[in-house]
Amino acid sequence: MKTKDINNLKDIAGEENIILSEEERHCYSYDSTRLEYMPDVVVKARNTQQISDIFKYASAEKIPVTPRGAATGLSGGCLAMEGGILMLMVEMDKILDVNPVDLLIDVEAGIITVDVDKEANKYGLFYPPDPGSLKYSTIGGNIAENAGGLRGLKYGVTKDYVNALEAVLPNGDIVNFGTRTVKGVTGYNMVDLITGSEGTLAVITKATLGLLPEPPSKASLLALFSTIEDAAKAVRDIVSNGVITSTLEIIDRVTINAIEDYLRFGLNRNIGAMLLIEVDGQQGAVDAEAKVIMKVCKSNEAISCKQAASDKERDEIWAARRAALSSLARVKPSTILEDATVPRSKIVEMVEAVNDIAKKYDLTIGTFGHAGDGNLHPTILTDMRDAGEEKKVESAVEEMFKAAVGLGGTLSGEHGIGISKAKYLKMEIDPASYELMKRIKKAFDPDNILNPGKMFLD
Ligand SMILES: Cc1cc2nc3c(=O)[nH]c(=O)nc-3n(C[C@H](O)[C@H](O)[C@H](O)COP(=O)(O)OP(=O)(O)OC[C@H]3O[C@@H](n4cnc5c(N)ncnc54)[C@H](O)[C@@H]3O)c2cc1C
Repeated sequence: MKTKDINNLKDIAGEENIILSEEERHCYSYDSTRLEYMPDVVVKARNTQQISDIFKYASAEKIPVTPRGAATGLSGGCLAMEGGILMLMVEMDKILDVNPVDLLIDVEAGIITVDVDKEANKYGLFYPPDPGSLKYSTIGGNIAENAGGLRGLKYGVTKDYVNALEAVLPNGDIVNFGTRTVKGVTGYNMVDLITGSEGTLAVITKATLGLLPEPPSKASLLALFSTIEDAAKAVRDIVSNGVITSTLEIIDRVTINAIEDYLRFGLNRNIGAMLLIEVDGQQGAVDAEAKVIMKVCKSNEAISCKQAASDKERDEIWAARRAALSSLARVKPSTILEDATVPRSKIVEMVEAVNDIAKKYDLTIGTFGHAGDGNLHPTILTDMRDAGEEKKVESAVEEMFKAAVGLGGTLSGEHGIGISKAKYLKMEIDPASYELMKRIKKAFDPDNILNPGKMFLD
C-alpha cells in the first residue's frame, strides 16, 4: 500500500487505531486454518461511521478490505488474501440493549459469543447458538459464517436467531436490514442473505438477536459403543423414535485417545465411539426422553448408557467434547478438519465412507462432531510438510466431499467455503446458481474490494 494511503487512513480511522509494524501484522496474518496472508495494515474498527469512512476511501482507491473477528474461522475467511486493510472488529463489543419481553438483545458485532449468552442468563434467558469456539468467536464472525453449534439439532443455527442487522456496504453506505418483530416480510430477506455471506457482501456492525427462556430442566447422557457404526445407528434411531435432543454429539476412538492424552478426563480409551447427549425441557418430558434414549442406545449394542449424576459430571462430559479439536491438533504437525454434512438418515453411510477413505489412503482420521445434524468433523492428522502426505490428504479430502455430496449432503455444514473449499464449490453448486451468486457479489461490491479471493475462484 502507498504511504499516501496509510497517511490518509490515519486521518480517517485515527492514528491510534492503525497497526503497521511487521511483527504485529504477522499476528493478524493467520486464522485457525494453516493458511497465512499478511495484511498491509490492520485497522481497529471503533464505530459504524468510522467503518463507513474507511470504506468510502478504500472503494475510491480500490484497496482490499478484509473483516476479522476472533480468527477462529476454519476456512481462511478472515485472511487478507490480497493484502490491503485488515479490519479488526473485536473492539466493537458492547451490549446495547436487552428486551426480555420481545426476547431480543442488541449487540455490537465484535462481542464474544459467550458474553451474549451470559447477559441473557441474567434475565432467565439464553442465546441458543453455541459453537465449540463460543468463548472466543465473535457474533459478527458467527453471523458471517452462519455458525452452528452443539445445540443445533433442537435449536437451529445462528441464522435462526438474527432478527436484524446494521451493516456497512463496500461503497460506505450504512444499511439496516430486518425487523424487531416476530413476523416481517417487507422486501427481500436481506438478513438471511448477509448471514452466511462470509464477510464478502457487507461488514456487520450491529445485530439484533433472538433469545429463548432457559429450559427448567436438563439431563446429560453418555453412551459408549464398540464401533462408530453402532453409535451412528443410534443417532439415526434416537430422532426417528421421536426424541429431538438439544445436543447429540459423537466422538470416535482416535479423538477419545487424543483428549485423554491431553486432559485425562478418565474416558474409556478402548471403545469405538461415544455419544454425548443432552435433553432439556420440563422435568417430566426430560425423564421420559432420557428413558427412550437409553432404550435406543441399548438396542444398538451400546456397552453402556448412563445419565450424568451431578452437574460436575455433566460439565466434564461437555468439557471433553469442547476439547476435541484442540486435543487432535496436538497429535501431528498438521490437522485437516472437514465439516462435510449429510442428511441424518445417511450418517451411517458417511461414517463408513470416512473409514474406507482412511484405510484407502492409510491416514489417521479422528471423527467427532454434531452427529444429530449429520455434521461430522473427520479430522486428518498428518504432516503437510511431507509432499507425499499432502497429495494423499488432498485426494482423501476430495473423496470425502464427493461422498457427502453424493449422499445428498453439503461441502460445509458450518465452517464456510472461504479459501479452503473454493475449488470444490462447483462440485455442489449448479452453474446457473454459481453465476447468480457472482452477480449478487457484484451488485454489493462492483470493484471486488471486500474480502477478495474468497468463495469464488474466477
Ligand atoms: C476450537 C474450535 C471450535 C469450533 N467450533 C465450531 C462450531 O461448533 N460451529 C461452527 O459453526 N464453527 C466452529 N468453529 C469455527 C469458527 O469458530 C466459526 O466459524 C466462527 O463463527 C468464527 O468467528 P470469528 O469471530 O472467529 O470470525 P473470523 O474467523 O475472524 O472470521 C470468519 C469470517 O467472518 C468474517 N467476519 C468476521 N467478522 C465480521 C463482521 N463483523 N462482518 C462481516 N464479516 C465478518 C470474516 O471476514 C471471515 O470471512 C470452531 C473453531 C474452532 C477453532
